[in-house]
Amino acid sequence: MKRLLAAFSALLLLLSLFSFGSCSEQTVTKSFFAMNTYCTVTVPAKNADAADEIIRRVNALEALLSVSREGSDIYRLNYSDGEQTPIDNETALLLKRALELNSLLPAFDFSLFRLSLLWGFFATPSVPDDADIKSALSHCGTDKLTVGDGFASLSGGAMLDLGAIAKGYAADEASKILLSHGVERALLNFGGNVFVLGTKQSGADYKVGIKKPYTEEILATLTGKDLFYVTSGSYERYFTEGGKNYCHIIDPKTGYPAESGLYSVTVVCEDGTLADVLSTAFFIMGAEASLDFINETHLCEAVFVTSGNEVIITDGLKDRFTLLSSDYALKD
Ligand code: AMP
Ligand code: MG
Repeated sequence: MKRLLAAFSALLLLLSLFSFGSCSEQTVTKSFFAMNTYCTVTVPAKNADAADEIIRRVNALEALLSVSREGSDIYRLNYSDGEQTPIDNETALLLKRALELNSLLPAFDFSLFRLSLLWGFFATPSVPDDADIKSALSHCGTDKLTVGDGFASLSGGAMLDLGAIAKGYAADEASKILLSHGVERALLNFGGNVFVLGTKQSGADYKVGIKKPYTEEILATLTGKDLFYVTSGSYERYFTEGGKNYCHIIDPKTGYPAESGLYSVTVVCEDGTLADVLSTAFFIMGAEASLDFINETHLCEAVFVTSGNEVIITDGLKDRFTLLSSDYALKD
């Protein structure tokens, strides 16, 4: 039996546990649908114009970066038949950043759209024939992308998908808008890409919840201000066939959904784009390889929730992490 659990029930995988605190400040929360996910922006009521500007900015980014919207830069590039395609400078810059991050973390491969289509993650999902997977995989590869100033080209039938980086980039851009408006405190959640600006009015930290896999409960909370918290999880979008779950994050080494013993990874750092990429890459790499990467680079902190019901956290989170479920054990 096949079953697609559409992401939307699980989108708030980082369920933000915020109220703006018990003080008198009036707040406004604006929700909108963009980048294939529900997004929310919460700001003090006096900063409602900042929230409106964020919504306009995210919608404009979607118009450039969407994989499914006809006329977007990525759509035109994907269906360009190898022809040089004019793209916005902002798209070109993001593609260049994505190429750099792909060299650092090959598991983050934004050229796998042909495989996501084959698995049906953008329509009705099912397990494809192995030969078709191998054939689709042979068309993928970021080496097939050339990016110049204001143009790009894609050879060999590769197709791009910025689904693992665009929401993080949008969150970065939104955080800049908050700062430019002098907003003191705010909470953003773009489909699991959370940004926490400032503290509650009382001075206490906001708590950000990490979802208990395959439930609507909260597994744990994290605290810390002026940070991005980004989660990639197997339960975000998946289908079941032959009693086995297949999730939407694809391992570029195999062409199959990643199976690294993780239910989720939450990355915490000051760079939203990087956090988005790291969480997707770590989900594929698994806890051990990801911890080695973090120890070497010190680029972020992270929480790994394993399919063996263990939780592993990096040292920098020790004082900011609270486990709420006795079904999971914190690993030393
Ligand atoms: P995220 O939710 O940020 O982990 O991103 C997952 C989305 O990125 C998927 O829904 C796909 O659109 C796309 N994707 C799947 N596998 C990969 C991969 N290995 N590298 C980059 N993007 C991927
Ligand atoms: Mg990501």
